[in-house]
Amino acid sequence: MFRLEDKVALVTGGSRGIGRAVCTTLAGAGAHVIVNYQGNEAAAAETLDQVKAAGGQGEIRQFSVTDSNAADTAIRDIAKAHGRLDILINNAGIAMDQLLLRVSQDEVEQTFSTNVAGAIYCAKAAIRPMMRKKAGRIINLSSVVAELGNAGQAVYSASKAAVIGLTKTLAREYASRGITVNAVAPGFIDTDMTSSLPAEMKEWIVSQTPLARVGTPEEVAAAVLFLASDEAAYVTGQVLRVNGGMYV
Ligand code: NAP
Repeated sequence: MFRLEDKVALVTGGSRGIGRAVCTTLAGAGAHVIVNYQGNEAAAAETLDQVKAAGGQGEIRQFSVTDSNAADTAIRDIAKAHGRLDILINNAGIAMDQLLLRVSQDEVEQTFSTNVAGAIYCAKAAIRPMMRKKAGRIINLSSVVAELGNAGQAVYSASKAAVIGLTKTLAREYASRGITVNAVAPGFIDTDMTSSLPAEMKEWIVSQTPLARVGTPEEVAAAVLFLASDEAAYVTGQVLRVNGGMYV
């Protein structure tokens, strides 16, 4: 079950956190994984080492998802080199938490540029080679706060709600081409993104989570693997929630 032999997968933001776990999980299932990163070359190299240690294959490709030309060029190159791109995981994301009254224009623009525009640029570029094969999987990382809301995360939660709108629309637009598009909405996952939260905030989040613990990147990656697999062929336009019951 859930094997990805002969499949080529691009994971944006594959250098750390959830993206790294997705890279190793997809590679462990047999996919050739392209590890994208923005600035952290050493972390991307470590991900590739872990991919190889898991018996998988992969390569690194640096670009910022905020740069539509760079994303387009990278994805064209990948499709040309491998003759295909089967799976795109739009995982790259940033959070700049702030109460609304303190939010700056720059924070709004940076967050939407990465979390929303980045996913749009990569999907647009990836859909071309997928259409040629009449098959493809696009999986977008949303968040529990897209549906639940969270004080201090107005901009981030708005960007992650936009990802759900994007997911549902692309699912309808490309279903006839054999391409499924789904979102995974994690709850609180232990990564660099959440490591700077104050201890009281973490305790409060756990208290709001029926399973009473934070999640791991590997638990999110398992959901991504399912959606990327042939077994998920009849699943499109959905939001798969991996949140310990925080939002039900
Ligand atoms: P993380 O540990 O902060 O890692 C972020 C990753 O995104 C890094 O690999 C980073 O690359 C990459 N990245 C950031 N901006 C980029 C850009 N412009 N172009 C390409 N790559 C870029 O984050 P995470 O916690 O693993 O989160 C991964 C995804 O899950 C995000 O979309 C996040 O919003 C979502 N999510 C996370 C949680 C959570 O609790 N952690 C919950 C819900 C949703 P570099 O290493 O080069 O900087």
